[in-house]
Amino acid sequence: MQKKTIALVAHDHKKPDLIAWAQKNKHYLAKVNLVATGTTGGLLAENVGLKIKRFKSGPLGGDQQIGALIAEQALDVLIFFWDPMNPAPHDPDVKALLRLCSVWNVPVACNLATADMLISSPLFHDENFKPELPVY
Ligand code: PGA
Repeated sequence: MQKKTIALVAHDHKKPDLIAWAQKNKHYLAKVNLVATGTTGGLLAENVGLKIKRFKSGPLGGDQQIGALIAEQALDVLIFFWDPMNPAPHDPDVKALLRLCSVWNVPVACNLATADMLISSPLFHDENFKPELPVY
């Protein structure tokens, strides 16, 4: 049985929400493999004390590195609190990352309520659960 790999990403105005969510769910998050974009990962390590693999900062390619994990079927869940109120310089990367979640049927939470529902789902805690892979 393999541990799940979960990616955590938040845009600047959403980072406090993600930190609070991770703090609340630290017990569960400590049991999985965590990856994150650079700044998000640094803040989570510092404020929540989670062990986390950090990719490059989102605008410098971190979103694309997480996208590559999805394309390799190496990511189980994406928690991505993107900011609907402020433009991002790397908007194409943001869209590409969300698109890949749809392409590969990866569960993705873009807000707190969905993240809460995802992490409280029995499937989240089922190490044998693998979403169906689409056939193109
Ligand atoms: P950051 O990147 O964690 O390095 O801020 C997040 C993003 O903008 O995708």
